[in-house]
Amino acid sequence: MLSGICRGQAEFPFFWQAGDRYKTVQNKIVMQIRASLGQFKRERGLERYWGEPLAAFVRAEDGRFLSLKKQVSPTHLLPEDLLPGARGVICFFIPFHKRIIGGNTQGTAASREWAEAYLYTNELIARISGDLAGLLAEGGFKSALIPATHNFDEERLISDWSHRHVAHIAGLGSFGINNMLITERGCCGRFGSLVTGWAPGPSVSAGPEGAAEYCLHRRKGSCGLCQKKCPAGAYADGVFNRRICYDRCLENARIHHATGFADVCGKCLCGLPCSSSVPP
Ligand code: SF4
Ligand code: SF4
Repeated sequence: MLSGICRGQAEFPFFWQAGDRYKTVQNKIVMQIRASLGQFKRERGLERYWGEPLAAFVRAEDGRFLSLKKQVSPTHLLPEDLLPGARGVICFFIPFHKRIIGGNTQGTAASREWAEAYLYTNELIARISGDLAGLLAEGGFKSALIPATHNFDEERLISDWSHRHVAHIAGLGSFGINNMLITERGCCGRFGSLVTGWAPGPSVSAGPEGAAEYCLHRRKGSCGLCQKKCPAGAYADGVFNRRICYDRCLENARIHHATGFADVCGKCLCGLPCSSSVPP
């Protein structure tokens, strides 16, 4: 181990070996994400909360990071801002189990399981990120870890590191009109990412120009179900109103205060053709 970052207590068979090519390392990273998820589930007795995770990689020098300063916010960070000498970004998606999605489909308030899943997934993302940083540290590479959530500006409600937009650049999916990224395992789940000194393989041509269009509305002008499902009217003017949405999330946090601070809603993600897979 070359740094102070330690992986969790379980047996991790995916040790760094000198001379590993980037594809081997990428495979080990995917296996590590699965192992960390499996261990977390066993430790906490949390079966039927998540499905199989996805991962994608992008080089830190990719010019599309600069476009996030226009797309998200002028203050959106570049990988180099988080880790001087950054060479790569690892993105992952943890889909929610169909049980969690189904439970949040009806009604206007977020379900208790949805709120719980959000809080558990924050911990899980921290665990996975830490374990990946430990794996990379074995190869002598530093990493910068980024919290799963609450890294946004309270006034503007915009994050200076959008895991979703970074995952889009890495090629994990395409945006739906509910502002969520639709992956091959749907949009119901959570994204994590970390910046590292390790360089993944050359970036593929994903992102705004290259990614397949998964959203039915963007693809052929149909569907639109997500926006119609918003109980708060956050899409009433045809434009997403971030403040209306976050006020509803805070209302849910009050309802489920016994579970912790779960400022979530997710009604525009559940019960959709894109909830847990790519729409046909
Ligand atoms: S519900 Fe339909 S319109 Fe909304 S993001 Fe999914 S596919 Fe697109
Ligand atoms: S998260 Fe809830 S309040 Fe926000 S847009 Fe979706 S359905 Fe509306």
